[in-house]
Amino acid sequence: MAAAKKALNIRLPPLPSIKDVIRLYKLRALRELSQNFLMEPRLIDKIVRAAGNITGNVICEVGPGPGGITRSIVQQAPRKVILIEKDPRFIPTLELIADACKNNVEMDIITGDILKTDLTTFIPEDTKREWTEPPPPLNLIGNLPFSVSTILIIRWLEMMSKQEGPWAYGRTRMTLTFQKEVAERMAARILSPQRCRLSVMCQNWCNVNYKFDISGAAFLPKPDVDVGVVTLTPLKHPLIKQPFKMVEKVIRQIFSMRQKYSIRGAQTLFPEEVREEMALKMYQMADIDPVTRPFQIANMEFARICEAYNEIIKKYPEFENYDYRAPKIKKVDSDSEKMNAAEESIL
Ligand code: SAM
Repeated sequence: MAAAKKALNIRLPPLPSIKDVIRLYKLRALRELSQNFLMEPRLIDKIVRAAGNITGNVICEVGPGPGGITRSIVQQAPRKVILIEKDPRFIPTLELIADACKNNVEMDIITGDILKTDLTTFIPEDTKREWTEPPPPLNLIGNLPFSVSTILIIRWLEMMSKQEGPWAYGRTRMTLTFQKEVAERMAARILSPQRCRLSVMCQNWCNVNYKFDISGAAFLPKPDVDVGVVTLTPLKHPLIKQPFKMVEKVIRQIFSMRQKYSIRGAQTLFPEEVREEMALKMYQMADIDPVTRPFQIANMEFARICEAYNEIIKKYPEFENYDYRAPKIKKVDSDSEKMNAAEESIL
């Protein structure tokens, strides 16, 4: 068995404070990139501590901005830090940190969009572990931009379900920030008013742990909402065995009529002429009461519903591509419209 790691601490040479860096480099926050900077070192350290012992690990940080979290990560003596930042204005401030720790920590600074970056290019092969082993010495950390956080987590869940990207290395853990409301939904258990499709999706593939809140007042500029810090550890065995797209479709339709009996949403998985009969059959096979509301369904019960849906699809493959929304799909062109549409559909 691997020996327990001892947490180390690297003392960086004196650097200007993040506040001074922002002032010196004239880094005005851009709203379109959801730039809200964390200024308080104690809070920043708390986020990094939520990731556990990262000494000797490879860390991918999303959206480092001026580098407040990066500094705290580096002080924990990781083996390598991979930074993905869309805004090139931050490169000099990140290079300042890379230079300060160059004798101790390897650093890759990538100017790019996390939604378009293949992280595997930068992750050393020897971090790989078997899926059923304890998580690999690899962590994803980020004070995520609000504009991409929901779409990113859904994309990452899909990669995780296929054991691709950072999850080709094993059960890679994440420590991420979200708008408080989104974080609460991710962690919401059965019967909670926040329970939604995002809760079931996240909890199907991960152990979701809501760590703590950060008040919006801790950021510069102050966002309109508070923030929640969440850790996600992929499960060895997801509760639902079906492929990601099928799971997403079944759960989306069941939650599509939140206040109604869940079978009403489930009916929309099937064409109109067979809708009532097929949904009832699916609920009988899964042993679910049709008058249950979506937020009253447990994760294991969703697993039984997906299993039953899969059985029905095997018998009637013509239903598989049925899309209730198809005639109503709104054309979205720009990236930001696509993100808004994705966010609306997941919440
Ligand atoms: N980590 C810094 C902190 O905690 O103070 C900044 C966090 S700020 C909320 C989000 C950061 O993500 C910004 O630096 C922004 O430029 C960057 N960002 C926005 N969209 C991005 C994207 N698609 N890919 C990578 N970085 C992005």
